[in-house]
Amino acid sequence: MNITEIRKNFPILAKKIKNNPLIYLDNAATTQKPMQVIDAVNSYYCSYNAAIHRAVHHLANLATSAYENARETVRSFINAKYQEEIIFVRGTTEAINLVAATFGRVNLRQGDEILLSTMEHHSNIVPWQIVAEQTGAKLSVIAIDDNGDIDLDDYARQLNQRTKIVAITHVSNVLGTINPVKQMIKMAHEIGVPVLVDGAQAISRLPLDVTDLDCDFYAFSGHKMYAPLGIGVLYGKKEFLQKMPPYQSGGGMIQAVNFSKTEYAALPLKFEAGTPNVEGAVGLMAAIDYLNSIGMEQIKQHELMLLHYAREKLSAIKEIKFIGDSITQIGVVSFVFEGIHPHDIATILDAETGIAVRAGHHCAMPLMDRFQVVATTRVSFGIYNTKEEIDVLVQGLEQAKQIFI
Ligand code: PMP
Repeated sequence: MNITEIRKNFPILAKKIKNNPLIYLDNAATTQKPMQVIDAVNSYYCSYNAAIHRAVHHLANLATSAYENARETVRSFINAKYQEEIIFVRGTTEAINLVAATFGRVNLRQGDEILLSTMEHHSNIVPWQIVAEQTGAKLSVIAIDDNGDIDLDDYARQLNQRTKIVAITHVSNVLGTINPVKQMIKMAHEIGVPVLVDGAQAISRLPLDVTDLDCDFYAFSGHKMYAPLGIGVLYGKKEFLQKMPPYQSGGGMIQAVNFSKTEYAALPLKFEAGTPNVEGAVGLMAAIDYLNSIGMEQIKQHELMLLHYAREKLSAIKEIKFIGDSITQIGVVSFVFEGIHPHDIATILDAETGIAVRAGHHCAMPLMDRFQVVATTRVSFGIYNTKEEIDVLVQGLEQAKQIFI
């Protein structure tokens, strides 16, 4: 990967933060956007902005083709079998809410179980909790070990005839653990249980093949893969999506309406009520083309290189205790710094070195409880990060130590 060339594609990286060059290490929260994406969105608004579908005029046809090309681009990127299996949503959160509210409401009964893990993001917990309250189902939680790996024996024990769905993150946004989702899906399928994978952190870091994984649902956000905010994808197997009731309703998702009955549109439009986010889809398509031009396998290797370098350098600071030690780790390093609160670390790094990191519970409070911490500092990488930036991070942490300890 030619990082110098890649960095030139991201205008924001030239920005100074209080006289220091920006070092952006908050990629798990959101990624920066390359000119290829910014130009695609700009060109959409300059030349073919229109509400799509149901129109015959020229601009609407152009915009509709672009939106549907974006769907095909996503299909091919994740190797789904059919375009109808790609539903555009606002992001991972909406995708999971959609499945919980539709699949969940129809299929869950009193006593049923929803199986998820201790390391889930709140957006893969709370939607399930709400549907559990509505249906009488309950959440079961798969344990993780001290390294931050799923306890597969516990998973096997908890999978049973009452389990109606497994909802599991592909890569943890706190620990960086890559979960053995393929194996977990196989185990669930052996007893007929469908699996939803939260791909928010995996989509920009790992090559993805949903057909090979055999997941039933896969959710991700555009903004975490160098695309605009407000666009994301729910992949769902056709046989599930066809049986699920609509999530939101209104224009765009109908075949015919009269006051006694509405016939819904076929997939994927059944799940895309309202005027869609064409700008987002166009930007997502440009982001996928950009990632493909670099290559997902190369991106994975770059992410792993940064992670291993960061772990090695940070290990030299004796006050640092890592949260998450999985050998599968990618993309994200979380730690606590003895004697300094994570918020102070993040504030000092910003003020003294122009480094953006995140401090807090990272929307994973049950995981914080598991590791008995209230917050961590989280450093998360992207395609434009370099070893030199990690060196500055280490200097910044040494500075923080001088100031606070
Ligand atoms: N799941 C994981 C693992 C995440 O990291 C995030 C974002 N931090 C989400 C879900 C939610 O994504 P979004 O806010 O884009 O809907």
